Amino acid sequence: MLIQRKCNGQGKAIGAISFVSAESGRHYTQIDLTMAEELASRAALAIENAHLYSEAQNAIKIRDDFISIASHELRTPITSLKMYTQILQKQVARMGAESIGRSLAKMDAQLNKLTALIGDLLNISKIESGQLPFQEEMFDLNEVVKETVEQAQLSTIKHTIEVEGRIPLHVWGDKERIGQVMTNLLNNAVKYSPYANKVVVHLQSEEDVAAVSIQDFGIGIDKEQLSKIFERFYRVSDPEEKTYPGLGIGLYLSNEIIKRHGGNLTVASEKGRGSIFRFTSPYQRRTQP
Ligand code: ADP
Repeated sequence: MLIQRKCNGQGKAIGAISFVSAESGRHYTQIDLTMAEELASRAALAIENAHLYSEAQNAIKIRDDFISIASHELRTPITSLKMYTQILQKQVARMGAESIGRSLAKMDAQLNKLTALIGDLLNISKIESGQLPFQEEMFDLNEVVKETVEQAQLSTIKHTIEVEGRIPLHVWGDKERIGQVMTNLLNNAVKYSPYANKVVVHLQSEEDVAAVSIQDFGIGIDKEQLSKIFERFYRVSDPEEKTYPGLGIGLYLSNEIIKRHGGNLTVASEKGRGSIFRFTSPYQRRTQP
């Protein structure tokens, strides 16, 4: 008996099962035939699913390899663009041409955004395979907040980014990765509040964690979307949101990074009123990275 399944209307044999009766002298009945056909059909379905699964896994691998190669290739010219921008900034500072200096600072801020975006892309495939490098250390979260706020401030003239509060202890984790989370949340806060003029970062110490909230007064997020925005590649798709550029990976990646630290990333938002993204960072090691 052939195992066969219809695929796009065309039956394609993918194997065979033989039923043999020997010494017993027993003959197969119609009921046996029906059962054998059912068995063959189920076996064929299982084999077909296994094929589809393996094809899907291959497609994911090809995608991840492509992202990884593309990110590396994109990084090289950006590094050299950044270097030339800095050389120009020094020359312009010597000449005293302030307005050109301001334009160059904006250019540098945009290059930083591009670098962060490429970093996110590269990390996304690594995180899936559990290969995201993780440096453990105790560090000053206030410093990370200060540096990332300064960078984000360079990318906007409309908003003032205020920092309130201070974290009294060093936190545990990967400083670079937490910086990446801050950059993503700050860039979003600026990007999704085009008519507001400030973003507020609140720092708070709780029992065994430091808590950082990034509050904007922008477009906000619909209730139904709140649980979805942390999904990979998810973007809110109403007509207004389509005008904001993005890939839908920043929050996914940030959430994964915070989870790996044993913290959590949450959001409170109201459409048209703004959003508060809040993450916690433990004072002591909580997870096996
Ligand atoms: P991206 O911003 O590149 O689209 P993210 O993963 O950072 O991707 O965010 C996912 C979605 O969540 C965004 O497309 C946007 O709709 C929504 N979002 C994120 N941050 C904010 C914010 N501060 N205000 C309003 N919407 C936001």
